[in-house]
Order: sequence, then structure tokens, then C-alpha cells
Amino acid sequence: MGKLDGRVVLVTGAARGQGEQEARLFRAEGAEVVVADVLDEQGEALAEEIGARYVHLDVSREDEWRSAVETVAEAHGRIDGLVNNAGILRFNALLDTPLDEFMRIVEVNQVGCFLGVKTVAPRMSDGGTIVNTASYTGVTGMAAVGAYAASKHAILGLTRVAALELAPRGIRVNAMCPGAIDTAMSNPAALDPSMDGEEAARGLDRFYRKIVPLGRIGQPQEVARLALFLSCEDSSYITGQPFVIDGGWLAGVSLG
Ligand code: NAD
Repeated sequence: MGKLDGRVVLVTGAARGQGEQEARLFRAEGAEVVVADVLDEQGEALAEEIGARYVHLDVSREDEWRSAVETVAEAHGRIDGLVNNAGILRFNALLDTPLDEFMRIVEVNQVGCFLGVKTVAPRMSDGGTIVNTASYTGVTGMAAVGAYAASKHAILGLTRVAALELAPRGIRVNAMCPGAIDTAMSNPAALDPSMDGEEAARGLDRFYRKIVPLGRIGQPQEVARLALFLSCEDSSYITGQPFVIDGGWLAGVSLG
């Protein structure tokens, strides 16, 4: 018996990284999975490999959300789970951040989550689950990622309000707040053939060994296991909460 047998779950930004691992794990746990992304080739290949369905979905576009939800309804007749995972990160000091960069981050990270809740929840089965991907920077500040941190803080507000408004239907809404996770977002060099991705990964490893109490960067599979917990009966009495998954980074500062 899988933890998600009989459930239909849509995961955004699922072509790679954390979303990919969520799609793989949910499928292994018995869910019908809908892989959604803007990276069509990668998303389609993943969907084919794991026996899922792929939909093109730019989460910042309401028309694309509507047609993605129609596709899911036609294919499966129901939707029980949503993981709002898609997100983008840009580095810039606040004072140097162009407005269009700030707005694009808000559109994808924050508006994308809002549109997911707004479009999917009306079609969701009672007792469904929504997991929003915020961040460590949704609960504390980090210099040089102001627009990103603002959008991730906003996701926690959205999560709490959605949890309150959807609770009468038994729909639970929670948020994940990952620290540093080993994906293309934290190591873009891994995607760039002109750079030494392995050397960059070693550099990151040395960095995170110093600042993360557990002494290492997190793995996307570890975040997927939290997403599974929040999407199945194991978390049946939990809603409206942020879950930090960061190897202890937020716990405080170690001396020495
Ligand atoms: P990633 O860059 O590997 O994956 C992000 C995915 O989102 C990609 O597949 C990308 O194509 C997709 N995406 C981007 N814009 C999109 C859009 N407009 N519509 C649909 N899909 C879109 O990075 P990741 O680490 O797997 O990120 C997943 C989530 O986790 C993001 O929300 C990110 O902000 C969050 N997060 C990541 C870290 C980290 O250290 N990697 C830490 C905290 C939070």
C-alpha cells in the first residue's frame, strides 16, 4: 500500500530539482502525478519515465493554470493534491534590484502560489492537500536576495489564510521552508557546461559545512519526504504551518 494510493497530485516546477523528486516519490507512493513546468523537454521525459502526465504550465499565468486544471480533470476526473514548488531566485542588493526583476520574482513565486490555490482548490476533492514551497528566507532575512525573501515571506501569509478558508472542506494547506538544498538553484554551475559544476559543488559543500549545524547541504529527496508527509494521512491534523527543513541553520549561531 502506498501513502498516496488513489490520489491525483499536481506538482509545479517538477521537471528537475525538488519538484522532480517530489514527482518521483509521490508516484512511487501510488499517486497519479501531473508534472507541470516550463521546461517541456525535461518535464515530458520525466513524466514518461515515471508513468505520469506532463502539462506545460507557467505558474504566473492564470490562463495556463486554467487549462492545466482542465487537463487534469479530463485525464483523471479529480485532483487531491497540489505542490506549489516552482520558483526562481535572483541575487541582487535591494537598492540595485530593477523593478522588473522584483516583479518577475513576485509573479512566479508568490502569484504562482496564489493562482495555484485559487485555480485548483475549487476543483479539489474535500480532504485534499496543498503544499506551498516557501524557504528558509521566508522566515528570516538574507542579504542579496531581497525580492526572493519578500516573495517567500508572502507565501507563508498566503498559506495561513488558505488553511483557514479551506479548512471547512478538510483541505489542509502547509508550507515547506527549505534551507540550502542541492539543486540547480543553489548550484547553477551544475547546469552550465562552461563551468566546473563539480568544483562549484565542492565549494558549496565547504561553505555549508561551516554554516549548517548538520554540516552539509540538504538533498532534494529529503524535501520530497517532507512534501509527502504533508500530502498524506500522516499529517492529518496539521494545517496552516510552516515546516523548516534546513539542517539546523535557523536554530541559531554556533560559537567557535
Ligand atoms: P530548480 O531551479 O532546480 O527548480 C525550479 C523549477 O521550477 C524548475 O524546473 C523550473 O523550470 C521551474 N520553474 C521556474 N519558473 C517557472 C514558472 N514560471 N512556471 C513553472 N515552472 C517554473 O530549484 P529547486 O531548488 O528545485 O526549487 C524548487 C523550489 O524550492 C523553489 O520554489 C525554490 O524557491 C525553493 N527553494 C529552494 C532552495 C534551494 O536551496 N535549492 C531553498 C529554499 C527554497
